Amino acid sequence: MARLDIENVTKVYGSGDGGIVAVDDLSLSVDDGQFLVLVGPSGCGKSTTLRMVAGLESITEGTISIAGEPVNEKEPRDRDVAMVFQNYALYPHMSVRENMGFGLKYSSDLSKDEVRSRVEEVAEMMGIEDLLDDKPSQLSGGQRQRVALGRAIVREPRAFLFDEPLSNLDAKLRTHMRTEITRLQRDLGVTSMYVTHDQAEAMTMADVVAVMNHGELQQVAPPNEVYDHPANRFVAGFIGSPSMNFFDVRIEGDHGDYRLVARRDESATYAVGDDCIAEAGVEPGTNLTLGVRPEDVEIVPDGSSDDPLLLNALVDVVEPMGSDNFLTLSHPAGDNWIARVDSGYTPEDGTPVTYTFDESALHLFDEDGRTLKSQGTDGRSYHDRAAAIPQ
Ligand code: ADP
Repeated sequence: MARLDIENVTKVYGSGDGGIVAVDDLSLSVDDGQFLVLVGPSGCGKSTTLRMVAGLESITEGTISIAGEPVNEKEPRDRDVAMVFQNYALYPHMSVRENMGFGLKYSSDLSKDEVRSRVEEVAEMMGIEDLLDDKPSQLSGGQRQRVALGRAIVREPRAFLFDEPLSNLDAKLRTHMRTEITRLQRDLGVTSMYVTHDQAEAMTMADVVAVMNHGELQQVAPPNEVYDHPANRFVAGFIGSPSMNFFDVRIEGDHGDYRLVARRDESATYAVGDDCIAEAGVEPGTNLTLGVRPEDVEIVPDGSSDDPLLLNALVDVVEPMGSDNFLTLSHPAGDNWIARVDSGYTPEDGTPVTYTFDESALHLFDEDGRTLKSQGTDGRSYHDRAAAIPQ
């Protein structure tokens, strides 16, 4: 086991004007035994980062250390890390037993019998002991991924590196394997870095989530914190499904009478308290982005459209999710909003509704997307609210 440190690492593919900065001055640490999930949209530099840690990609600038020792110049096989890939990367002509023992045979001085017993022990742990003499082509996708995981575990590496390992599995199996990998990682206590573009995977599996965009690190924090206190508008919009709702607003008014006015429809206003404005540290006249999560949107059935706290919209679509409904609300003041409401509430498409939200649920971002105010959580942890993220 070991701590992993990425310090000021940059990766440029190509050179000169045509060079692509895939990773831009990234600094990130994974504590001993910690499970860090690196998440972000396609092309943000996640895989490149992981591959640099594994030694499969050179580092343009900066240092990567494992257990305090720089490994920039070390060959992949000398780094003592095990990588699990999306496409399993099993040898088709070898049996499960040979696949699992292969790395060990060459990277350790264990005897044949020792390799055999370690492979059998791990196969039992993974529930694949009956498949040891099968070839990969005889296995299902889930079984192949278990073999690939088993092969990594058998080596007892200092760190696991997972590159989107569940992407090829169907939804149900993916959810099951998420739980299985999380449990295994906790049981084994091996320092792990896991790359995915799927924010739900990141939120449900990680001790710590690291969000990247355009090669740059946006935020590193436990799942609760990235959800409730996103560092910027990008993180706010990327984490959570359905995404956070946004409006472009301007602050107006004065002490005791501050209002957020929608810039695209000045009749839509939301009265805010002095505390909120003080927390955001902004002056009247400032342009901001307001953000509210779908579960914090409250439909007010008998609301009066004259009430300054309420916003008006038309129901565009109702999507029943079983436990609750997602309502798409079309609003002249901005993009459509999504409200997550009780499954018993199913208005007809086109129904006019009024809605509001509690001031404590309000997020405010400046024009550069930095967070000025995030939501209060009333002591609720992310996991109390985890239903917000469909599995
Ligand atoms: P992610 O894993 O987040 O999808 P990648 O790390 O694969 O992103 O890619 C980051 C950026 O680097 C992208 O713009 C991608 O096109 C570019 N890139 C990745 N690999 C190469 C390569 N071998 N040569 C040139 N550009 C690459």
